[in-house]
Amino acid sequence: MDWHLECSDCGLIASADGLPSVCTACGRPWLVRYPERVHSTIERAEVRRRHGMWRYRSFMPLGVNEEPISLGEGDTPLLRLPRLERQLGFSNLWVKDEATNPTGAFKARGLSAALTRAVAAGATRFTIPTAGNAGVASAAYAARAGAQVRVYAPRTTPRTILSQITAFGAELVLLDGHIGDCGKASRAYAAESGAMDLSTLREPYRIEGKKTLGLELALQFGWELPDAILYPTGGGTGLIGMWKAFLELREAGWVTSPMPRFYTVQSTGCAPMVRAFDSGADSAEPWADPWTIASGLRVPGPLGDKLMLRILRESGGGAVAVTDEVMAELAATGTRAEGVDWSPEGGAALAAAVMLRDRGEIAASDRVVVFNTGAGWLYRTPEDLLGPIV
Ligand SMILES: *Cc1c(COP(=O)(O)O)cnc(C)c1O
Repeated sequence: MDWHLECSDCGLIASADGLPSVCTACGRPWLVRYPERVHSTIERAEVRRRHGMWRYRSFMPLGVNEEPISLGEGDTPLLRLPRLERQLGFSNLWVKDEATNPTGAFKARGLSAALTRAVAAGATRFTIPTAGNAGVASAAYAARAGAQVRVYAPRTTPRTILSQITAFGAELVLLDGHIGDCGKASRAYAAESGAMDLSTLREPYRIEGKKTLGLELALQFGWELPDAILYPTGGGTGLIGMWKAFLELREAGWVTSPMPRFYTVQSTGCAPMVRAFDSGADSAEPWADPWTIASGLRVPGPLGDKLMLRILRESGGGAVAVTDEVMAELAATGTRAEGVDWSPEGGAALAAAVMLRDRGEIAASDRVVVFNTGAGWLYRTPEDLLGPIV
C-alpha cells in the first residue's frame, strides 16, 4: 500500500496495514494520506473516459492490480433545478441526486470502499450499526463480496429500508433506541465474534468512498467548485469526505477555485452539530432523545464532531436545523416539481437553502448544491401513498 493514516485530531501517523479502526492514541477518526501519488493533467483528462466512483484511481485506496468490490456506485446526476429556482427564488440551484446509487442512497460509496479494503485485509464477517441506509448498503456489498454482515438497526427504522436489508441477506437485529445504542451492541458483538465493525468513522475507508462525492462534483462542474454545499448531516462522512476531496484536488492542481462554504443540515429533533456550531463549541455534546423522520440524520453523538466543526468554520459555512414538517413539505415539493425522488434528508437540505437565503448567508445568485442523499421511496410503503385500497 502506498498510503498511511494520519489522525484527524492529534496528528499521529500510523501504518494502514491490517484492519485499522480509530486513532490508537486519542480515539478520533483516521484520515488516509497518499504522499507518493502523482496526479498528472493527462490523468485528469483520462478520468472523463472512465466510469463509476473508482474512476479517480489516483485519489483512491486501491493498489495497482486490485479490483474494487463494486456495484456500479457513483456517477450520479448533477441536475439544475429550473422550476425550483423559480418557485424558491434562486438562479443557480443544483441537486446532486444520490438516489440513483445502488441501494438507493450514497451509503453505497462508503461501503464499496470499506468492504474493498477490509476484504483485501482478510475480513470475511462484518457488523454495522445503522440508522437505515448504511444497513442496506452493507448488506448489498457484503453479498457482492461473498461475506456475512450483521446489521443493528432501531426498531423505528422505515419498514421499506428494513425489508431491503433482509432482501440482501444480512442478519438484521432490531433494537429499541437509536444508532448510538446500536453502535454499543455492534461493538460488543465485534469483540466477542471477531466480526469487523464497519461503523461510520470507526474505519478510515468509508470517508474515501464518500470523497468521490466531491471529486465527482468537481468533474461535473468542469473542475470548478460551487459557492455553497448543503449537506444533510448524520455521522458526517460525506461532509468530511468532500472537504478532503477538494483539498486533494487543489493540492494536485486539478482545481483552483476557493473552497465552497459547507453547511450542515440537521433536524430540530436531533441537531447536535447545529447546537455546537451556534454555541461556538469545538466539539458536540450528545443529543438526548433524538427523533426525526429523516432516519439518516438521527445520529445523536457523531465521532467526527470536532473535524466537522472545523470544516464548517474554516469554509465560512454554518449549520441549520429544519423541522420534520418543513423537510417533508420541501421533499414533496421537490419531487413533484422536478421528478427527482427526494428523501426527507434531501428535503431538509432544500429547506435549509431557503432558510439560509432568507437569513442572507446564501445569495439568490450563488451556485448552490443541495444533496439528495437517498431516495424517497425508501421511506414510503404503498399503504402510505395510497391509503387503504377499496
Ligand atoms: C446516512 C445518511 C445521511 C447522513 O450521512 P453522513 O455522511 O453520515 O452524515 C444523510 N442522508 C441519508 C439518506 C443517509 O442515509
